[in-house]
Amino acid sequence: MLYIVATPIGNLKDFTHRAVEVLSSVDLIACEDTRHTKILLEHYGIRTLTTSFFQHNRFTKGEYLLGLLQSGKNIALVSDAGTPGILDPGYNLINLAIQNNIEMTFIPGAAAFVNALVLSGKPAHEFYFAGFLPNRAGARKNQLQKLKQLECTLVFYESCHRILASLEDIGLVFGDKEITVARELTKKFEEVLRASPKTIQDKLSNHKPRGEFVIVI
Ligand code: SAM
Repeated sequence: MLYIVATPIGNLKDFTHRAVEVLSSVDLIACEDTRHTKILLEHYGIRTLTTSFFQHNRFTKGEYLLGLLQSGKNIALVSDAGTPGILDPGYNLINLAIQNNIEMTFIPGAAAFVNALVLSGKPAHEFYFAGFLPNRAGARKNQLQKLKQLECTLVFYESCHRILASLEDIGLVFGDKEITVARELTKKFEEVLRASPKTIQDKLSNHKPRGEFVIVI
């Protein structure tokens, strides 16, 4: 059986009893980064064997893990934070398991976009999760223009390196519309800003932006 297990996006206490039970009882945990996951495992006293499964070994390691699953082993799949498969390694192994009729289940937990969407107070009955915006300004503006046509809430992930540039372009495309920027969700310095792109950009420009961000328009 393949268990897809969501892990906390910052606060280690955001982890279910069932997730601890599953990670403690499987034969192997496939981690995006074994050193990162060790912090969570040590916190909960979980001693299960780990192995790495990430972007660059996903094909070879995927076949290896498939072999183990076919021989009857139970494997849990986790990423560094949040839900595997949501912009995190997982997609390939999940598909390989489906193609090979491996029994599979998902142990639910955190995904950063859900926290941000809920905290934004914007309509959540219809929303579009657009992942990361393109790196280059031209492509980013084009993508924003395209998404502006959708009549629903838009959600983006962003890094501290690009948040100011993205807010600049969001301001150019969406004007003074009130947006939400959620930072360091569930962590000590969680912050939710609700204002125009320009106002948030100015506020974040006071210091070098740090942490992880979700933008809701
Ligand atoms: N699998 C994760 C999930 O379920 O949300 C997403 C992983 S993606 C590689 C990393 C991005 O998620 C970050 O750049 C940031 O945009 C967002 N993110 C993850 N944790 C966050 C947090 N605690 N606060 C705000 N954004 C977060």
